[in-house]
Amino acid sequence: MPQSAHPLIAARHDQMFPTLAPAEIDRLRRFGEARSYAAGERIVKAGEVSPGLIIVLSGKVEVTQGGGLDRRETIVTHGPGQFAGELAQLSARPSLVDAMAVEPVEALVIPSHRLRDVLVREAELGEHIMRALILRRVGLLETGASGPTIIGRADHADVLRLQGFLARNGQPHRVLDADGDPCAKTLIERFHVDPHHLPIVLCPNGKALRNPSENELARCIGLVRPIDATKIYDVAIVGAGPAGLAAAVYAASEGLSVIVLDCRAFGGQAGASARIENYLGFPTGISGMALMARAYNQAQKFGAEMAIPDQANQLSGRADADGRRYVLSVGDDETLQARSVVVASGALYRRLDLANLAQFEGSSVHYWASPIEARLCGGQEVALVGAGNSAGQAAVYLASRVKKVWLLARGGSLAASMSHYLVERIKAQPNIEVLAETEITALDGHGGSLETVRWRDRASGEETTHPIRHLFLFIGADPNTAWLARCDVALDAKGFVRTGGDCGAADHALETSRAGVFAIGDVRSGSVKRVAAAVGEGAQVVAALHAYLARTGDHVAPAAGGRT
Ligand SMILES: Cc1cc2nc3c(=O)[nH]c(=O)nc-3n(C[C@H](O)[C@H](O)[C@H](O)COP(=O)(O)OP(=O)(O)OC[C@H]3O[C@@H](n4cnc5c(N)ncnc54)[C@H](O)[C@@H]3O)c2cc1C
Repeated sequence: MPQSAHPLIAARHDQMFPTLAPAEIDRLRRFGEARSYAAGERIVKAGEVSPGLIIVLSGKVEVTQGGGLDRRETIVTHGPGQFAGELAQLSARPSLVDAMAVEPVEALVIPSHRLRDVLVREAELGEHIMRALILRRVGLLETGASGPTIIGRADHADVLRLQGFLARNGQPHRVLDADGDPCAKTLIERFHVDPHHLPIVLCPNGKALRNPSENELARCIGLVRPIDATKIYDVAIVGAGPAGLAAAVYAASEGLSVIVLDCRAFGGQAGASARIENYLGFPTGISGMALMARAYNQAQKFGAEMAIPDQANQLSGRADADGRRYVLSVGDDETLQARSVVVASGALYRRLDLANLAQFEGSSVHYWASPIEARLCGGQEVALVGAGNSAGQAAVYLASRVKKVWLLARGGSLAASMSHYLVERIKAQPNIEVLAETEITALDGHGGSLETVRWRDRASGEETTHPIRHLFLFIGADPNTAWLARCDVALDAKGFVRTGGDCGAADHALETSRAGVFAIGDVRSGSVKRVAAAVGEGAQVVAALHAYLARTGDHVAPAAGGRT
């Protein structure tokens, strides 16, 4: 039977496409319903929500993805005992692939909400299915033939913006270079696009978007859906970094109804880390994206709803007659109601104080060092500013992909602010040159492309101008708390959220000055700025949520000692 020739799919074929034993299928029958499909009938259409996980009982189902202009590429043909579906079905998002019955098919169809029940109630079987769903998404990401198609110049700031947004949200996509790709040229002609209006994005549902915002694109591909304004969640979590995702996993797994908002992508700052080496349990290190993608899927497996990208604009003081309901204003015109709120909005990267910085952001000035940026800088010299662990990780990562990294630090040595292992690794890297006591004084370039960077030795005052096309900034972060203005949540002098004894009135160490509003992770005043600390607080806050909901009569708290 035809299968994809892609090496990753071939190498992981058995785990990606397992065959369930008859006894396993019998155990799954209570979660789904029997369906028949005629030969040639389309079961799933890319861009539309699939009926769920399709377990083939008899017959064959062919799964295809867009392989190129007007061409479909077969990924796999499922036979009896195999199932069609991938991560999109976990949260009833639109399918990324097509599935068709190539002969008469009898199937067991498990809808998305019941699929989550399978994963939770059938531990061993659930593990096999979950692993297959995750590997299939990885396969789709690597083959880059499904999802939206971005057409534009590969180094255009808006192409990079849209590409970065999709990559950070784990969404398969492809970029067709308007300058060199013949498919791009054909599509530009077919859609009558003026080249000055590029980039355009072709979505799997057939819609074409002209240089969309991230939110427009997310809505078109079904990544974010309207919020049900009438539903009252047990908890609304603002921020899907490590703290927010940990809180979501623990809260949802303990039966609370949870919604998580993030204005950009899941993963927060941790998602920007090229390699996290100090998080417990990963002796060889793990990329921040890989760690956070696991947490994101885990939270959805337990039923947490994700609203990404969706921004919390304001926490309203308005509550119901009993004073037990918070209202968040979200995005352009949505509202969300919750009995409690967890503030996990972390921190936002600091910018350099240079008048023309903004004109180079997106195309030449980066706050993230992922494979997308590394590809842009291949074979070039780059400058990187910062002296913390995030700067160290990015410098080491880029050094293996670029000609040279100039690492600029304002202080006298990296040792004062960077972990020892990173300082040693930087010393061992011949193409990283550290310039201590150095600051950037000017940027120069044209049309959004940086051409030179001028820096100054703070001790001697000497200035040097270097030809540099890409500049990376890792110079710390400020708290994301502007959205808490006018809602009586007490902040410290630097804008971080006060909790526990620090703000007097709170009942719990993580509770803010407003009952039922908690703060965790980097946004919390006095927190340790580490992934493990954020995750720990995410777990810890759930006990406080139970206690609060029990106190206000909204929920029964778990037995003493918590749940495991
Ligand atoms: C490049 C880099 C490398 C790092 N490496 C390491 C490491 O190796 N080890 C380590 O322990 N730590 C590391 N850190 C630090 C670690 O990533 C942070 O301590 C951790 O991410 C904090 O988690 P958080 O969930 O509290 O906040 P964040 O990670 O900052 O997440 C907050 C989230 O909230 C969202 N948000 C903000 N405002 C709103 C709003 N109004 N509405 C909706 N969403 C909102 C943001 O988009 C963001 O996704 C690194 C940090 C960086 C930047």
